[in-house]
Amino acid sequence: MTDTACATAPIQFHKPLAPIATPDTRWAVADIEALFELPLPELLYRAQVAHREHFNPAEVELATLVSIKTGGCPEDCGYCPQSVHYDTGVEASKMMEVGAVREAALAAREAGATRFCMGAAWRAPKDRDIEKVSTLIREVKSLGLEACCTLGMLTDTQAVQLKEAGLDYYNHNLDTAPETYGKIISTRDYQDRLDTLERVRRTGMSVCSGGIIGMGESRAERAGLIGQLANMDPYPDSVPINELVQVEGTPLHGTDKLDPFEFVRTIAVARITMPKARVRLSAGRQTMPEGVQALCFLAGANSIFYGDKLLTTGNPDVERDRALLKRLGLKPRHVLGG
Ligand code: SF4
Repeated sequence: MTDTACATAPIQFHKPLAPIATPDTRWAVADIEALFELPLPELLYRAQVAHREHFNPAEVELATLVSIKTGGCPEDCGYCPQSVHYDTGVEASKMMEVGAVREAALAAREAGATRFCMGAAWRAPKDRDIEKVSTLIREVKSLGLEACCTLGMLTDTQAVQLKEAGLDYYNHNLDTAPETYGKIISTRDYQDRLDTLERVRRTGMSVCSGGIIGMGESRAERAGLIGQLANMDPYPDSVPINELVQVEGTPLHGTDKLDPFEFVRTIAVARITMPKARVRLSAGRQTMPEGVQALCFLAGANSIFYGDKLLTTGNPDVERDRALLKRLGLKPRHVLGG
């Protein structure tokens, strides 16, 4: 064969073996495990097909997370340095004032973020907390940012109040598969989490829910987590996939480190099973090699947490992220309103 013939020969693309999931597809855990087992190039190919069906693969959403109330949490989540059950050196703080939150949101917007997430270390907010958080939501929304909160378990009334304040997304992670859950958290159960998500969904707010991997779970358990998320009706609009950040003093410190390719696989499986969701590369990214992050984008991640502290001009994390996106030819998604 001549060089010319090589250049003109049609490229043979591999066809997917199974149809891409639609939003109505229901997933058996065994089918999800089968996805995990695929050769990595095949898995990434399928994730790419699903991703391109619904998104521009060159766009990444930038979300900034700010802790508006840190530490002193009565829950015992085995990975969390904010729990009162563990000695991690995290001091409990009061809720941030409106002015400080506004400043953080402005800095996030300035740095290019479009979504501003506010987290509070509570088992469940009190009604007076909801009033204060509603003020914060209105402030964030007035800056044209999408607003997201993660505040713990909600009652029906609280969910409605947050929706009325203008909240776009409520985050409440499932964390792990139902069968693994009891090994990680004892102070509330899986059903509590599902109930809060259902209350949020009923108000019409968008649901953000994902999990943490690398907590010593098996691949079958990772598939179980993805199955829980993918089989929600509808599945979450936003799916953060976190890698365990090991903090000294927490029970999960010292857990065997996860193979980075397993993290990439989890992102790809989330993308295939929840094709219309924003799959967010979340905690763990700070220490993740850039090559692995690039693979995560190939696997269908299209959102990142960006700037994990109160942002100030010249925040090196933000600048490093911007440089990485530029090197990969990826662009921030712009949705800012007035
Ligand atoms: S509920 Fe949230 S803040 Fe509290 S211990 Fe669990 S993860 Fe940490």
